Amino acid sequence: MFTTFGQVKEYCNEKQIKMIDFKMIDLFGRWRHLTIPVDRFTEETLIMGIGFDGSNYGFAPVEKSDMVFIPDLSTGIMDPFAKIPTLSILGDVYVTGDTPKPFEQDPRAVANRAEEYMKSTGIADLMKTGPEFEFYVFDHISYETRPNSVGFRVDSQQAEWNSSNLDDNKGYKVPLKGGYHITPPMDILYDLRSEMCLLLEERGVEVKYHHPEVGGPGQMEIEVEPGAMREMADKTMLIKYVVKNAAFNAGKSATFMPKPLFGEAGNGLHVHMHLFKDGEPIFYDADGYSGLSQTALYFIGGLLKNAPALCGLTNPSTNSYKRLVPGYEAPVSICYATANRSAVIRIPDYAKTPDQKRFEIRNPDATCNPYYAFAAILMAGLDGIENKLDPVEHGYGPYDINLYNLPKEEQSKIKPLPKSLEEALDALEADHEFLLKGNVFSKRLIEIWIENKRKELKEFSKIPHPAEFGLYYDL
Ligand code: GLN
Ligand code: MG
Ligand code: MG
Ligand code: MG
Repeated sequence: MFTTFGQVKEYCNEKQIKMIDFKMIDLFGRWRHLTIPVDRFTEETLIMGIGFDGSNYGFAPVEKSDMVFIPDLSTGIMDPFAKIPTLSILGDVYVTGDTPKPFEQDPRAVANRAEEYMKSTGIADLMKTGPEFEFYVFDHISYETRPNSVGFRVDSQQAEWNSSNLDDNKGYKVPLKGGYHITPPMDILYDLRSEMCLLLEERGVEVKYHHPEVGGPGQMEIEVEPGAMREMADKTMLIKYVVKNAAFNAGKSATFMPKPLFGEAGNGLHVHMHLFKDGEPIFYDADGYSGLSQTALYFIGGLLKNAPALCGLTNPSTNSYKRLVPGYEAPVSICYATANRSAVIRIPDYAKTPDQKRFEIRNPDATCNPYYAFAAILMAGLDGIENKLDPVEHGYGPYDINLYNLPKEEQSKIKPLPKSLEEALDALEADHEFLLKGNVFSKRLIEIWIENKRKELKEFSKIPHPAEFGLYYDL
C-alpha cells in the first residue's frame, strides 16, 4: 500500500492513527505482533528495525546474533478490528551484524527466495497462486451447558452432538453433508461472510466469491483471485485473521482445522497455480491433455513425485490426516485428473483460456505455514520441469474416474498420500533436495521443522482422545 515513509505519515495523520502494529510470522505460520505509538515510528525504524527475541517464535537459535524486524511498508493496512485506530505492517526478520542479513528461516524470506529461484531458472517469472479457504464457524458453547460430559468436552464431539439425542434442539437443522450453497434462512451466516469479504476487499484482497460449503453445521468457503506467490502467502495470513476476528466479534468461533467434525467434510486449502514468463502463460496448449502444455504436465509430475514429502509442509498436523480419507472430496491418491475431486491434482474444466489455464493441488490444509507450503509447492513443480517428470510415464494418471470407488487391485496401482503426520515427516526427511536448490530452504530449517513436528507427535501420542472413551471406557 505504501512505498515511502512520508506516505505512511500522511496516512496516519489523515486517519488519526494512534498505533503502529508490526506483525511477523513464526515457524508454524502464526502471526505475532508488537505495537508502538505512532510517534515512535521514525525513518530510522526502517533502517535499524526493531529488536526482538526470536527464540519464542519456534525458529532455530542463531548463535551470537540478535534479531530485528524491518517493516515492509507495502503491506500496510488499517487493522479492521482494533478499536484504537491502528496501522498494521508486516515485518521482515533480519539477523544483525556488520550488514543485516535476511534471517534464512523467516517464512517471508523463504517465499521470496523461491520466487527468485524460479526467475533464475529462466522457466518463469511469476507463479499466480490462488488459495481457497474452507472453514467452520461454530457457536461458542460453554462446556458446562453440554450434558453427559465425561472428562473432555471438545468440539471434535460436535458431529455426535449434532446427530444424537445429546442435542436439546429437536428443530429442523441442515442435514449432515447438506450445506452446499444452501440459502438463507438456513445459511444463517451469510451476512457474516459478506462482512468478512468486504473487510478483505477494502484491504486489497480480491474476493472471487464466498458460499456455504457442504459441511452442514456451518462450513463455509471464501475463494480469492490469484496473485504472486509471496503476496498470496501474506494475504493468506490476513484472510485467516479477518475470518477469525469477524467471527469472534459476532459471538462465534471460526476454525480452519482440517477435520473438526467426524463424519462431516474437512477444511481444505486447495491451491491453484499457473506460471507466466514475460506476461505470457506457459501452462496452456490447446492440443495438450485438458488444454495443458508439456511444461504444465512436468510441473504436475514434480508435484506428484514429491507429494509425500510436500505433505510434511502442506499438511503438517496430526489432524490433517483425519481429513485425507475417502468420501469427503478430499484427495487420497497421488494422481491427476480433470474435474476429479478425489485426485491430488485437479484441472478445472471451466478454465479454458490461455490466461486461465491452471490446476489445483487439493491436499494442503490451513495448518500449514503458507509461506513454506507455497514455496515448497513451487519448488516441487520446478523440480518436475527441470527433470522432465512426465506424469503419464510415472503412472500418475490421468485418472478421470472416482477414485474412492476403485476396485482394490486398481486402487493398489496408485500410490496413496501419507496416512499420518509421521509418514509425511519421514517422507520429508528422506526427500527434500528439491527444497534446498537456490538455498530456498536451508537444511537447518528442514531439520528444525521436522524436530518440532515430531515433538508435537510425541505429545499427541500421550493424550487420551475423546474417541477412546467411546471405545474403551466401558470395557
Ligand atoms: N472440503 C473438501 C476438502 O476437504 C473440498 C470440497 C470442495 O471444495 N469441493 O478438500
Ligand atoms: Mg472452492
Ligand atoms: Mg470447497
Ligand atoms: Mg478447489
